[in-house]
Amino acid sequence: MRPATRTAMFGTTIFTEMTRLANEHGAVNLAQGFPDFDGPEFVKEAAKRAIDAGHNQYAPMAGLPALAERIARDVAARTGVVREPSTEVLIGCGATELLFDAVLALTEPGDEVVMLEPFYDSYLAAVRLAGATPRVVRLSPPAFELTRDALAAAVSDRTRLIVVNQPHNPSGRVFTRAELSLVAEVARARDLPCLSDEVYDRLVYARPHLSPSSLEGMAERTMVFGSLSKTYSLTGWRVGWVTGPRELVAATRAAHQFVTFTTPAPLQHGAMAALDAPPEYYGRLVDDYRARRDLLVAALAEAELEPFACDGAYFVCAGFSRFAFDDDVAFARFLTAEIGVAAIPPSAFHLTPGGGRSYVRFTFAKQQATLARAAERLRALAGSARRR
Ligand code: PMP
Ligand code: GLN
Repeated sequence: MRPATRTAMFGTTIFTEMTRLANEHGAVNLAQGFPDFDGPEFVKEAAKRAIDAGHNQYAPMAGLPALAERIARDVAARTGVVREPSTEVLIGCGATELLFDAVLALTEPGDEVVMLEPFYDSYLAAVRLAGATPRVVRLSPPAFELTRDALAAAVSDRTRLIVVNQPHNPSGRVFTRAELSLVAEVARARDLPCLSDEVYDRLVYARPHLSPSSLEGMAERTMVFGSLSKTYSLTGWRVGWVTGPRELVAATRAAHQFVTFTTPAPLQHGAMAALDAPPEYYGRLVDDYRARRDLLVAALAEAELEPFACDGAYFVCAGFSRFAFDDDVAFARFLTAEIGVAAIPPSAFHLTPGGGRSYVRFTFAKQQATLARAAERLRALAGSARRR
């Protein structure tokens, strides 16, 4: 009756844990990154029509061809990388599932996988379930710069795969061409495949999205992951996709067919409508998120926290050096239980002992009214007894 150690080591994710704590204390949940507003009507309507029209049986294993075509067209327009929809696109149950499939497909037990630290937590779980060994490229707050030395320290002769994330969760960093070129240099020199998690590619506030796949020598070794979750505010639909070179996609499809087999057919019809959105949809999305970011940053500064720069995704990290707490977990718990605003302690996104302990992460994927409510509560922080 004892569960296997393979999953017993995971416990509960920090997102589930902090959301539970937020609900228990009636806190404004700026911890788990999901919108508290609904996805677009035209996308929901398309999925409802698909159900009524009888699109309710298994979809093709790799996804609906008409959706794959739209994804390939979108990727080509935005990154310049041309993919063949029938062999170089795979649709799955969120980027989470496809990242897992790709790690299973591209590593052997004992191989090393290089990833940026802090990392999105599912990468670590996938690497461990595959029996591979994680190696981290340390990014340090507040700048989270990707340096040649940190990359060199993580790469070895056993490296088999590199995972990058642009824009980056949790830091809100958008890496520069020079930073991404360091990764490209290593990947080319060692002939490594690269997984590029770009689920926040539309949420950039300072400069246009730059995909590592568009750098020299990278299209032939990079798989790019996208999702309905962020761009269309539909995290509950679990529809994502990956595009990449044929051999890497074929290996990932082989895993996908036994993990989920297919992705809900009517939701893929909804996804087609999403990808047909007019340019104004994306302009409005970014403008709205920029305004939410500015609201949150102002509220954090007013509460005497130290918000770090955010140029992408929907997270702002902030230091709490003016308050007397030992680490991020203690501060996040205090903030949730006593102040009524939940945040994520980023030590959960680290392998390096002590990593992430000096700051917490807030999401601004919330209505302005929600952020205003959080701002109101955060005002109590500056006057609290825990101020140094
Ligand atoms: N990658 C990153 C960096 C994320 O923040 C998220 C959000 N949960 C995901 C992947 C997962 O996306 P999806 O909802 O498509 O599984
Ligand atoms: N991506 C979201 C975040 O980083 C939540 C993901 C999850 O709950 N698994 O907050």
